[in-house]
Amino acid sequence: MRQQLEQMQKDALAALAGVTTEEQLQALKVRFLGKKGELTSIMKGIGALSSDERPVIGQVVNSVRDCLEESFATCAATLKASLKKAKLQNERIDVTLPGRRSPRGTKHPVTLVVEEICDIFSGLGFLVAEGPEIELDYYNFEALNFPKDHPARDMQDTFFVQDNLLLRTHTSPVQIRTMLQQQPPVRIIAPGTVYRCDYDATHSPMFHQIEGLMVDKGITFGDLKGILTIFTNQMFGNDIGVRLRPSFFPFTEPSAEVDIACVICRGKGCRVCKNSGWLEILGAGMVDPEVFRHVGYDAEKVNGFAFGMGIERVAMLKYGINDMRLLFENDVRFLSQF
Ligand SMILES: [Zn+2]
Repeated sequence: MRQQLEQMQKDALAALAGVTTEEQLQALKVRFLGKKGELTSIMKGIGALSSDERPVIGQVVNSVRDCLEESFATCAATLKASLKKAKLQNERIDVTLPGRRSPRGTKHPVTLVVEEICDIFSGLGFLVAEGPEIELDYYNFEALNFPKDHPARDMQDTFFVQDNLLLRTHTSPVQIRTMLQQQPPVRIIAPGTVYRCDYDATHSPMFHQIEGLMVDKGITFGDLKGILTIFTNQMFGNDIGVRLRPSFFPFTEPSAEVDIACVICRGKGCRVCKNSGWLEILGAGMVDPEVFRHVGYDAEKVNGFAFGMGIERVAMLKYGINDMRLLFENDVRFLSQF
């Protein structure tokens, strides 16, 4: 019986040495030390022993049980430690790996063009000015010398909020607000959102304009042409042709529309320029004395020029976009090209 016990202890210790999982360990514990385990079944033979042998075998049983219980406990502890180590190893984070980059957006072409235009005019000493998009009739029309019956006041063009309140139809009210706040010299550039009741391939009910104003003593039409030539050269290239055509705006006199040589055909004539070789890019002129009167400037002492252009039109010409609606549909495939 002693041999049986010793053999069982040997078997158990050998089996323990090969344990790699908690399930295996548990199974071995049941097999050797469980209620129906090997130790129990050997002990059933104790009753058949003589009274001399019983205490001796009893001691052996105790020592075998103690030994196995201790071995199982040690094995459990070792197993737990090694499983923890393996887990840590598996979940290890390599902090030297490059991080995952989130996809980066691009600037909208309208923003790009605004920034570029502001850059060019900042270089010429112009400051950026802003004004409200919901505007009083006075700043949007009255002070800019729009007579009461001017077609631009028609409901078809202007979004009215109330009788006297409207969504500005151009950035020109910023001229008035700026001149009311400061005395000459004035040199501002005013980018912003404007609104008109219009929607097709070349018109959007919401679009962007940039307005320029320079007022000082002795400003001439030559200064206007010079500044605009510097601008078009920087925006569209040094060799781009520029021409001024007489035009009419209520707030400038004389007024001109400014064309650049077609950026597509370089003046030869194409579909975009309707075979004229020229593209209208902005409106400009010398500030009308009537506007100065509204802001309290003395038209005998100072004069100046103003100009305004549609940002979307500049963006379309610069990037060769043929439909203005593309600029506002927020199609990422389109926008990510810029
Ligand atoms: Zn052309």
